[in-house]
Amino acid sequence: MESFTSGLISLEEAQAAMLAQLQPVRDRLSVPLADAVGRITALPVTSPVDVPPFDNSAMDGYAVRLADIQSSRPLKVAGKAFAGAPFTGEWPAGSVVRIMTGAPVPAGCDAVVMQEETREAEDGILINAPVKAGQNIRLVGEDIRRDQPVLEAGVRLGTAELPLLASLGIAEVSVLRKLRVAVFSTGDELQPVGQPLAAGQIYDTNRFTVSLMLRKLGCEVIDLGIIRDDPQALRVAFTEADRQADVVISTGGVSVGEADFTKTMLDELGVISFWKLAIKPGKPFAFGRLASSWFCGLPGNPVSATVTFYQLVQPLLAALTGQRASPLPPRLRARAATRLKKSPGRLDFQRGVMSRGADGELEVRSTGHQGSHVFSSFTAANCFIVLERERGAVEPGEWVEIEPFNALLEG
Ligand code: AMP
Ligand code: MG
Repeated sequence: MESFTSGLISLEEAQAAMLAQLQPVRDRLSVPLADAVGRITALPVTSPVDVPPFDNSAMDGYAVRLADIQSSRPLKVAGKAFAGAPFTGEWPAGSVVRIMTGAPVPAGCDAVVMQEETREAEDGILINAPVKAGQNIRLVGEDIRRDQPVLEAGVRLGTAELPLLASLGIAEVSVLRKLRVAVFSTGDELQPVGQPLAAGQIYDTNRFTVSLMLRKLGCEVIDLGIIRDDPQALRVAFTEADRQADVVISTGGVSVGEADFTKTMLDELGVISFWKLAIKPGKPFAFGRLASSWFCGLPGNPVSATVTFYQLVQPLLAALTGQRASPLPPRLRARAATRLKKSPGRLDFQRGVMSRGADGELEVRSTGHQGSHVFSSFTAANCFIVLERERGAVEPGEWVEIEPFNALLEG
């Protein structure tokens, strides 16, 4: 292709180049379970106990020995076993023990008969269903054996993992240290939120967005504010950021305008790849190494900054924090419910609303204006509509790929 999109590098190439160079953090520390949400396991976790810790009843009913239930005579009830209060008495031949769910089964018990399969007679209970050895007994270690690995290293701890550790009585977990990430925005037109705007000024959205997403990802944020479009001010900011952080993220100044000094500064201070990415929004993007940190230069337009952070920086940070799995959800197929404007040349991340159509298939509609300055396009959206690089406009009814937002953009 000879158009202006030739020579652009693909998202996959950029992602691969970034991930190829990384060394995840190594320092680890032990944290209480309640403070471990969002942290990454530094070591595999093994179970200190058997789960369940003892044979116990899966039902409310009666603990029986098979030898005692061969005749059809009523069976006396020798006592009761509750969860937390085992049966400790004598268990005479020809009797059963009343037992509740979770109670330890008494020694010698072969099976538990559920209450619904028994009937109370005058001098005991009658069983009115066949009984199999072992039925309704949860065996010690049946779920997890002591010393069995339950989590690998590199797992992000959330509500699917932490309760599992709690159920094993694990009070502290070894995690990797947090990443320190410095962030600043560049632009003479930017004002911090909370200040009145003078003519030609706009509010600094990106530093807010990036800091918010960094906190959600569990990073320590070093906020270096707004840096003017001035080489010396940028030099100071980059040097300071590099000194303090593992990763430095700036926004703006990466295009080819006369006030775009980011590239010049980085050439002076580090080893930087400048990419024109074949994605929309978010064409200009810089990645590389400063003296002691990684660097990501996001485009200035708020939608572009958010999309490149989400698609490129998020996987990079996940890898740097030691996380094994990709943080990006798998893509799904959906039918376009509205027309989607597009010209061939770049992979497009439009913002969409996915829902289940009348025929049970996923469908997706556009959130409307997709300009890279229209941040409200994110507000109603719950997914990206990912349109292939060479594809043109999409007509209603055509199939497209969608990528549901993860927790970084939802909630
Ligand atoms: P730049 O990449 O610096 O040329 O900026 C591209 C566009 O994004 C311009 O319209 C800028 O005013 C706007 N922009 C840059 N940085 C920010 C920011 N932090 N918040 C909101 N808009 C920005
Ligand atoms: Mg600028």
